[in-house]
Amino acid sequence: MAKSQHQKNFETACVAINQLWDSITMADVTGLRAAFEKSGCGEKIRIDKTRTDLGGFSLYGLDQRFDNNIYYNRLRFDDTGFAFVRRTHEIIHALQAQSSVALHANPGNKNADIILCPRDYLLIRELAEEDARAKETLVKYAAAQANPHLTTAFNSTGLSIKDFETALSIHKNMSMTLAVTAISALNTGCAEDGYEQKTLRDYYADMAFFDYYQNIARRQNEADEHPVQFVRLGDEDIYDLGTAFGPCTFGSPDIYPAFQELLSPSAELLTEIAGLSEALDITDDRALPTLSEALTGRGQTPQSALTLWRANSALPPALN
Ligand SMILES: [Zn+2]
Repeated sequence: MAKSQHQKNFETACVAINQLWDSITMADVTGLRAAFEKSGCGEKIRIDKTRTDLGGFSLYGLDQRFDNNIYYNRLRFDDTGFAFVRRTHEIIHALQAQSSVALHANPGNKNADIILCPRDYLLIRELAEEDARAKETLVKYAAAQANPHLTTAFNSTGLSIKDFETALSIHKNMSMTLAVTAISALNTGCAEDGYEQKTLRDYYADMAFFDYYQNIARRQNEADEHPVQFVRLGDEDIYDLGTAFGPCTFGSPDIYPAFQELLSPSAELLTEIAGLSEALDITDDRALPTLSEALTGRGQTPQSALTLWRANSALPPALN
């Protein structure tokens, strides 16, 4: 079958983007291509004319199995600067799925009966987005050092390279620079319908709440016999996410308090989280065991659980 023009543009752009990644010499961000190739993540063009989004990394599909594919919808592959930043962003999400067990303790994972409480599921989703945006900015900063003529093109999407450079000169510390970049990235205005007066942070929180709710409802409809153990996030889970690629976005060695809880959630969202937690019989989500503690109780480690869940396998039953 003849390749579509879109497929050809995609393949040409990927070659150019791979070369740009390979041209980076800054120690913190070398090896992106090799890490991505090792992840086993696929990339597919899936044009859906009913949707306006650009597509993105799919962690769990509708079949509730680890999907590990990036689906590109309306991404403009004829614009190398734009495609570079967007593809880098999605690839960071793919790498997060390789190193963060907490992303898999997710009601959308059919094989998981250890699941983050609603509040911390929203938190890990917020952190994943913050990390991807901070790292995409770090990668384009590093790529612009190696390819100064592309600086304007790289700046066509996301945060400005100049602002990142300024933050780095002020803080003189990569983790702090990534942290402030992460926070400002989600505090920007949101262009989505109905979110004109809100921030990207509000938008992602609502999407995560919706996903959680839908997946929990689906599990209940399927009359899943396995009781679910709800857990909270530990600092080690946040660290594992923040180091999926490059230095930790959330503080190193200690996690900054700004990343230990949802940042400025609306009163309405907090009420929704409390209502859903109550419906799930979670009386105090701060008193739950951490994900690591729950895994230890089953004779698992974060690494062994990741291996099983990435292979779409269930954990062994709980020890009594
Ligand atoms: Zn993202």
